[in-house]
Amino acid sequence: MKCEKCGDAVSPEDARELAGRQLCDDCYLDAVAMPKTCDPWAVYSAKKTVSQDVVLTPDQQRILDQLKTRGPLTLEQLCGELNLSEEEFRNNFATLRHMELARGCKKGEQVCYTLFDDPSS
Ligand SMILES: [Zn+2]
Repeated sequence: MKCEKCGDAVSPEDARELAGRQLCDDCYLDAVAMPKTCDPWAVYSAKKTVSQDVVLTPDQQRILDQLKTRGPLTLEQLCGELNLSEEEFRNNFATLRHMELARGCKKGEQVCYTLFDDPSS
C-alpha cells in the first residue's frame, strides 16, 4: 500500500491511521507534531522570513536553545521549561519546522521535538 500523503510505499504493519488516512511513519509524525502545517499564513511568513535574514522571535529562539542543549524533548518538557502554553509552543514550532530549524522525532513511542539536523534521531 501507499502513504496517502507522500505516496511512499509502506507496508501495512508500518502504516498509521490518522483521521481516516493511511500514512507512513514520517507523515504521521509530521501531522501529529505539527497540526498547523496547513496554515497558509504560517507557511507564507516562514518562507518570507527564510528568504531574508532569519529573524526568530524570542520564544522561537528559546525553543531552539533548549533543543540545542537538551533535545530531543517532549512537548511537556519544553512547555514546562519555557513556561509556554501548548498552543504557544505549537505556533512557534510550526514556524521553526517550516524554516527547517526543528522537527518532530520519536523516542520509543513518545513524540519529541529536536533540531532539524539532529543526526541522533
Ligand atoms: Zn508519507
